[in-house]
Amino acid sequence: MKHVAYALSLLALSLPVMAGLGLKRSGWRVGQTINIEVRDADAGQLACLRFVADEVATFANIQLNFVAAGEWTAGLRRDVWLDVESQNGDVATGGHSSMGNTSFLREGMMLRMYPTSVEPTNARDCLEVRTIRHEVGHLLGLAHEHQHPLIPAPLTRQLVDDQPRIDRQFLEPFAERRLRSFHVTAYDQKSVMHYSMSITVGTARELQNAGRELAGIGPERTDEELYGYIYNIEYSPGDRALLRQMYPASH
Ligand SMILES: [Zn+2]
Repeated sequence: MKHVAYALSLLALSLPVMAGLGLKRSGWRVGQTINIEVRDADAGQLACLRFVADEVATFANIQLNFVAAGEWTAGLRRDVWLDVESQNGDVATGGHSSMGNTSFLREGMMLRMYPTSVEPTNARDCLEVRTIRHEVGHLLGLAHEHQHPLIPAPLTRQLVDDQPRIDRQFLEPFAERRLRSFHVTAYDQKSVMHYSMSITVGTARELQNAGRELAGIGPERTDEELYGYIYNIEYSPGDRALLRQMYPASH
C-alpha cells in the first residue's frame, strides 16, 4: 500500500494542474522585487496587501513590496503606483490593474476598499482579499479566466446578460490573435481571475447536456431560478501552478 501511495504522489507531482491565461512575457524578471507605492491606505489596508504579497511568495518566485507613500525612501525604484480609495457607503469594492509590466515604470493599480476598523491578523480578516488577489494576479500577468477560449458558451451568454454595463471586450473570450501572447492552459472555474456570477438552472442543464463538469459551482439554491454561483476568493491550485511556471524557483 505504501508503494502505491508513493507512486500516486509522484504522479501528482509530475502533473501540475496549471490553469488559466498568463502572459508569456509579463515584463517582470523572475525573482525580482516589484516596488509598489501605496497612496492613501490605512494601516489595516496595507497589512492586507502584505498578507497577499507573503502568500504569492510561497508559490511564485516574485516579491511584492508594498510601501506606504509616507514611508518611501529616496533611491527606491518605483515600479507601480497603487491608489487606495476608501469606501464608506454601499458602493461595491473593486479595482483595476495594469496587466504585467507593459509600459515600463508607469504601471498603475487602484483598489476600492473599506477602511479597516479591526486590525487584521491574517488574510481572512480582510474584506477585499478576493479583489486584492485578483488585481495582483493582473499585475503579475494573468488575464480574466472567464475570457478563456474554453469557457462554455452558456456562461459567456449569462455573464453578458448579467453585466450590461461592462464592455463586452472584458467579458467575451479572447480572439485567437490575442491569445498568442499568453500561456493557454485549462479553463478553471475556481480561478480568482474569474468574474463572480450566478448560474441559472437552464444554464446548468445545458452544461450537463454538453457533458461539462459542474465542479466549482456552488451549492444548489432553494430559489428556483438560480442553480449556483461562481465566487472564488482564493488563488486556485491552477492559478498557483501557472504563476509558479511564470515565476519558477531558481534552483
Ligand atoms: Zn479583472
